[in-house]
Amino acid sequence: MKLAARAGRITPSPTLAMAATAKAMAARGIDVADFSSGEPDFDTPEPVKAAAEAAIRAGFTKYTPSSGIDELRQAIIDKLHAEQGLRYEKSQVLVSCGAKHSLYNLAEALLEAGDELIIPVPYWVSYADQTLLNDATPIFLPTREENGYAIDSHELERLITPRTKAIILNSPCNPTGATYDRTTLERLAELALRRDLLLISDEIYEKVLYDGARHTSIASLGPEVAARTVVINGVSKAYAMTGWRIGYAAGPKDLLIAMANIQSQSTSNPCSISQKAAVVALRDGDAFTKTMVAEFDRRRRVIVERLNAMPGVRCRMPSGAFYAFPNVSGLLGRQSSSGTIATPTDLATYLLQGFQVAVVPGEPFGSTQHIRLSYATSMETIVRGMDRLDAAFKQLT
Ligand code: PMP
Ligand code: GLU
Repeated sequence: MKLAARAGRITPSPTLAMAATAKAMAARGIDVADFSSGEPDFDTPEPVKAAAEAAIRAGFTKYTPSSGIDELRQAIIDKLHAEQGLRYEKSQVLVSCGAKHSLYNLAEALLEAGDELIIPVPYWVSYADQTLLNDATPIFLPTREENGYAIDSHELERLITPRTKAIILNSPCNPTGATYDRTTLERLAELALRRDLLLISDEIYEKVLYDGARHTSIASLGPEVAARTVVINGVSKAYAMTGWRIGYAAGPKDLLIAMANIQSQSTSNPCSISQKAAVVALRDGDAFTKTMVAEFDRRRRVIVERLNAMPGVRCRMPSGAFYAFPNVSGLLGRQSSSGTIATPTDLATYLLQGFQVAVVPGEPFGSTQHIRLSYATSMETIVRGMDRLDAAFKQLT
């Protein structure tokens, strides 16, 4: 069968693929230390589950309006106003089946052949593939680990062409854990206004911040910036609700209406029960998030300290999200019993096969020097996993 060319341009999500491999090994009784999953290990808060149960009992099990129920869209509008001072009408807010789906609707509504989307490197795996799926070209903006992966607005400007549609920002960032400071956001906003760019701001990790930091959405820098920003967010990470599949987008009306039309012809509404649950998460979930993030903070310190104590490894302290992204270039070129470890993918394979440690290699995030470890897993797994990593690295010659 001859498939559409776009299907051949992409691979399955490598993060989901590694998580599935680790889970399958665990199901076979293998004791895996799993650092692959980009999802909180916490259970969804009880009041959120209760709202879902009540929705089922009340028969709230039918189609809803395709763009989401009014109650949830209003909760999103209220949240964005209370936390960032942003003002949206209902038609500017679209609820989808996870932030990944929000991003996909956006890519479909925005991009076509010849268009370019600027993506700072390292980046979350799906940005580039969703761009390719919509016949457009990802343009990668390198950043430097030594500078905390900051975006240099001059370097960014050099990449802008008449075909550039947008730049995607992800603060806090998956995989680096880096956040953008206000000055950087102001420079980017100024550039977007001057060069007529759309800003896509993926804020899914906004509540997973450490050391008392507070999130600033670039859209909050002024009405003219909000008018050219699409905010992407969801309940997956902040409220431990990855399986419920609720994400949302808020932004310019014409774009959001186009995205809503695409959704109404493709998936229809996101799950009715999950929408009811998400209302409670958004309205009452922040105490839960604080407790969870305090625990992530404890784990963050342990994992980063352990990684930095390993010869050949250096790891920055992430300021947000729940990923350690150690630089392992000091280990590349060494020998294992099964051959040379030339790349992060070789290293990840060596760790999984020889030591039952699941990590995601850097390549699908745009790095040939790093691996990603999620510390949204128990302290016991972290300690056990770091002992194994230590042993694995010491065996390389
Ligand atoms: N953006 C980033 C940066 C992510 O890490 C994720 C997690 N998969 C998503 C978007 C999508 O999250 P979800 O679809 O679960 O809302
Ligand atoms: N965001 C998570 C991760 O990066 C989930 C996996 C995915 O959606 O690709 O691991």
